[in-house]
Amino acid sequence: MLADWRTRLLHDHPALFPDLRVVATGLGPTLVSVGWPSVGEGWRALVERACARIADACAGVPAAEVAILGIEEKWGTLRLTVSTLDLCETASAAVDLAVDLAEARSLHVCETCGAPGRFSVKHGWYATVCAAHADGYLPVRSRDLDLQVTTMIVGDRTVRMARRYEVRSDRFIALEPPIDEDS
Ligand SMILES: [Zn+2]
Repeated sequence: MLADWRTRLLHDHPALFPDLRVVATGLGPTLVSVGWPSVGEGWRALVERACARIADACAGVPAAEVAILGIEEKWGTLRLTVSTLDLCETASAAVDLAVDLAEARSLHVCETCGAPGRFSVKHGWYATVCAAHADGYLPVRSRDLDLQVTTMIVGDRTVRMARRYEVRSDRFIALEPPIDEDS
């Protein structure tokens, strides 16, 4: 039943998949959850790392309720949908960071094989592919792919924070200074 990494992920992190249940199929019993990863083998390490980080973030929070509601490919990149309840600010920020890091990294990892990949497009369809799995997809040339901008209201001011994902170190580098729209 645990031959597939996706099923094993659910088995290893039951707290993250509260709707988890065993269903009988023609091939024997299998684990089922709305959060069952529907992504390619190449993103396996990304997904496993993100789930481990989310589990770690919530481990010390007894009242925490965390539910992974989706691990999917959308517009060529990973989309992790996580719902949380009663998390402290620190744990909540750690969950958000785990999700953001995995999604940002997916733009650099071939979904098919896990080799270094590039965010690419073919006839309006997006995918992150390595050279061997490009199959006519061409890299999207943009310097902003790794740039993330968030807008926050601080008092009566609107502040924009920008950060850039760095593949080598798998972290975000804050871009300074923050952009204060009212200055
Ligand atoms: Zn590949």
